[in-house]
Amino acid sequence: MKRLTGNEIRELFIKYFNEHGHMVEPSAPLVPIDDDSLLWINSGVATLKKYFDGRVIPENPKIVNAQKAIRTNDIENVGFTARHHTFFEMLGNFSIGDYFKKDAVKYAWDFLTNDDWIGFDADLLYVTVHPEDEDAYELWRNEIGLSPERIIRIEGNFWDIGEGPSGPNSEIFYDRGPEFEFDTPAEEMYPGGENERYLEIWNLVFSEFNHNKDGTYTPLPNKNIDTGMGLERMASITQEVPTNFDTDLFTPILARIEEISGYKYGEDENKDVAFKVISDHIRTVSFAVADGALPSNEGRGYVLRRLIRRAVRFSKELNIARAFMYELADPVADVMHGFYPNVSERKAFIKEVIRKEEERFLATLDEGIQIYDQVKQKAAKDDGIISGSDAFRLYDTYGFPYELTKEYAENDGLEVDEAGFRNEMQAQRERARNARKSGDSMQVQSETLAEITEESTFTGYQSLNEEARLLHIIKEDNSVAQAEQGAQVELIFDHTPFYATSGGQVADKGYIRSSNASLAVQSVYKAPNGQNVHVATVESGTVTAGDTYSLEVLEESRNFITKNHTATHLLHQALKDVLGDHVNQAGSLVEKERLRFDFSHLEGLTDEEIAKVETIVNEKVYSNMRVEIAEMPISEAKEKGAMALFGEKYGDIVRVVDIDQYSVELCGGIHVGSTGEIGLFKIVSETGIGAGVRRIEAVTSRYAVNLFKEKEAALQSIAGRLKVKENQVDRRVDALLSEKKDLEQQIRKLKESGQADKLADMTNEVKDISGIKVLSKEVPANDAKELREMMDSLKSRAQDTIIALGAVNDGKVSLVVTVPSALTDRFKAGEIMKGMASTVEGKGGGRPDMAQGGGTAPENITNALQFVEDYVKSSQ
Ligand code: ATP
Ligand code: MG
Repeated sequence: MKRLTGNEIRELFIKYFNEHGHMVEPSAPLVPIDDDSLLWINSGVATLKKYFDGRVIPENPKIVNAQKAIRTNDIENVGFTARHHTFFEMLGNFSIGDYFKKDAVKYAWDFLTNDDWIGFDADLLYVTVHPEDEDAYELWRNEIGLSPERIIRIEGNFWDIGEGPSGPNSEIFYDRGPEFEFDTPAEEMYPGGENERYLEIWNLVFSEFNHNKDGTYTPLPNKNIDTGMGLERMASITQEVPTNFDTDLFTPILARIEEISGYKYGEDENKDVAFKVISDHIRTVSFAVADGALPSNEGRGYVLRRLIRRAVRFSKELNIARAFMYELADPVADVMHGFYPNVSERKAFIKEVIRKEEERFLATLDEGIQIYDQVKQKAAKDDGIISGSDAFRLYDTYGFPYELTKEYAENDGLEVDEAGFRNEMQAQRERARNARKSGDSMQVQSETLAEITEESTFTGYQSLNEEARLLHIIKEDNSVAQAEQGAQVELIFDHTPFYATSGGQVADKGYIRSSNASLAVQSVYKAPNGQNVHVATVESGTVTAGDTYSLEVLEESRNFITKNHTATHLLHQALKDVLGDHVNQAGSLVEKERLRFDFSHLEGLTDEEIAKVETIVNEKVYSNMRVEIAEMPISEAKEKGAMALFGEKYGDIVRVVDIDQYSVELCGGIHVGSTGEIGLFKIVSETGIGAGVRRIEAVTSRYAVNLFKEKEAALQSIAGRLKVKENQVDRRVDALLSEKKDLEQQIRKLKESGQADKLADMTNEVKDISGIKVLSKEVPANDAKELREMMDSLKSRAQDTIIALGAVNDGKVSLVVTVPSALTDRFKAGEIMKGMASTVEGKGGGRPDMAQGGGTAPENITNALQFVEDYVKSSQ
């Protein structure tokens, strides 16, 4: 056995199968393309579904790939086993209806044991098979020559994900030796058991049945091979290190964590778990963000959010108290640069996303502590036990690990219902598992279309009308020779000008006619072997296979679609110009009436940015740039700097749409000859459609003019109602606004004088107490200041009166009292206030002529005011 780096293992694997006639498929993005059933690409086969279920026929039925994968169901294992990651690479060889079990087994054995390749000691390998899979047993026993005790029959070795292909599988294990047994119970100590000694490295799946809708199994017309080998596990063996984390794929990341934390990996078991969790999760998050996912509250985004939180939580174990994860994207990018350059290329963006998310979580953690406080109080009131569901909520929503809740609870003298918490966790795992099961299923192989291999040329780049021979009529998934009026059919011709939906551009609409029949085309899509399939209704007559028809694309809608398509390319580049290179297409829809463009960007666009983008695109339209379209090898296109769309797979020869060097994109769509044809470009809206994804809707030519017309009509209507010319609307509106302001001020003044009238009325309530004028009253003042102001206005109206006012607000009493200076030798305001305030259980004081105070017993305010009169009486 040679010592091999991770990169070397990957290269060897691809080389081995390539030399054995397999075509190399590139590693697809982690975010599935055209597949809503999967959250993440979780295996090598996941990206090849279209071949396995027959939607697309591969150029070569033998395929090899190194595929990045994310598995969230293994998350709770990560950090605690030597072999589980949330992000890992699977190396796989595949056969689509070509070789089967025998070659699959022979290839695997040769690659693993042959000294020219991996060169494992054959005596350390074990295999498992399904108990009923006698073929596989025979092959391992006689073809490979394994002794019977090294072939273990395991019931669970059947790969079945519901409807679609399924079959038995055979797993290969490497014996790491008795020193890896640790405390494993004896009953788990076998290849396939839950242990670290026998390490599963490779799974060979022999898919030979179709799992039908009704639950029965029938043999597949094409038997397939699908295998997956774990790269990190292989590296741990060839590098003779105890865990995947000790391999060259991880050590640079661990080293950086050592630098940041000041702790050493390998000295303390608990801290090592934190090292492992963090180094695992940063790989997952970096790769996922590089592939277009972003943290959010749902779906994929939520997975990323949880991973970042989990890593940050574990960082507490290493006493890291700041955002730091983002710095680890550097070593991740460096380690993986050779095979996965996109992490390096998008590193600045990735780091920005992670840093923001970390900072946000550090703030949320504080929020979690507040929630914990509530939970604590509830528990303390009840039985002193924090319920399982509360602990789970803290964990799931606020990122509080169970251990943290427990630690806090212990400090507070409380318990946590651990069993309840585990139940909730289990329930969540089951929910996830069910979601996975129902999501994994492949479509059943569609035989009819897959069997059609004749070519159908697309001539629509040059023409809109063709006379073409009808090759196939498909009705309700069967080939038929004829179809009558009213039938819904799918038609394939020897050639066609009809564009099939792809690359965001909608299909053409139009008619199919002959002297015998007339059909309206509703949609057009691509068959597995690449022909354009016309979905149409027979409006009259009878269609017959073999006859010639005239195919007519609706010219008007096609023209507007092409304008929008070219405008989309200009918009894409203009967004990069204005916002930066991180802008990448995340989706696109090109229709007749409008275009829609989704792209990665963290914040909403400002009005200035939108205006800038519009101006750039329109300038490109005015300058009437030529749109050059050419086919060329992909290497040449890359040299020209062509933008390849994210996640799209391209053949060796690609079509390049070059708008006079301003925008160069790989694209199979239909475009205008020069940008002047677009006429005019106008953005209608800019919105967010998910974390970090923005959507622009825009219109061109006739539809842009229509939009301006609508805006013009609105302006005209406003001008009409304001009775001014359009160019005076601005000034008129300004004048109206300032008039409004004046009026508001006048109203305020009027209100104030109304208040003054009320005060004047109050002077009627002045009492004469043995020749001394006294006014004492509760008034509706909002605070002490307003109360004083009222007092001042009253004083100017009744200068010879002792005035006492009180007001109640929010359960508190405010009081003021004033004594005319002529009377201060007999009555002191401060003294009066003391008496009043004590009546409302408060305090007060001041000068002889003026005092203020307050209290907390509003129910006694009447008594307090009465006190003034009593005081005057008693002081006579
Ligand atoms: P295990 O039982 O060890 O979790 P598995 O049966 O789930 O493995 P498969 O689905 O058969 O694994 O995947 C094929 C190969 O991919 C495995 O043999 C293993 O080498 C690797 N693999 C699977 N899951 C992980 C993971 N979470 N982290 C790293 N490698 C993995
Ligand atoms: Mg597993």
